[in-house]
Amino acid sequence: MNSLKEFIIPFSGLKEGNHEFEFGINDSFFDNFPESEIKQGSLHAKALMVKRTQMLTFDIELKGEAKIPCDRCGNEYRQTIEGQWQIVVKLEAEQFNDEDDLISLPSGAYQFDISQYLYEYISLLIPYRRVCAETPDPSKGNCDPEILEKLGNLSANTEEEEETDDNDSTSDPRWNSLRNMKFDN
Ligand SMILES: [Zn+2]
Repeated sequence: MNSLKEFIIPFSGLKEGNHEFEFGINDSFFDNFPESEIKQGSLHAKALMVKRTQMLTFDIELKGEAKIPCDRCGNEYRQTIEGQWQIVVKLEAEQFNDEDDLISLPSGAYQFDISQYLYEYISLLIPYRRVCAETPDPSKGNCDPEILEKLGNLSANTEEEEETDDNDSTSDPRWNSLRNMKFDN
């Protein structure tokens, strides 16, 4: 049972030239990548494959949304994810290789599983800074005000304590006398 079989492209039976593929990427897609930060998502990928004698190129357009936790309040929000890129697959290589953006398939290979590459690219498209209040569409989520308030109180308390500590050390008369001693010497 392979839930990713729709991502396997049986290129050997296809004519040279252009071929279009569309892929629906949903929660079960991410189930296949246990290390995935995204557990829930709904994305759509369009791939234009050009088949040549010893090469396949895929021009891919990806668009959709994924649920990811907000850095600030921890709530999951819907992050828009979109991008386009190209995958080049060299055919009839000596062995399988996928370094430096160039994938090589050994001769005899007749199909190409694109799922891993879609997954890797989606992972790259997750923004570094994830804050639900900053999504362009407010209906897609906002920081949970209750949690923010709790977090705010927490950090306010910590700051206050630090400030008090500072005041104590500068106004502590023992320090003053120490300073005077040094000065006297
Ligand atoms: Zn948030």
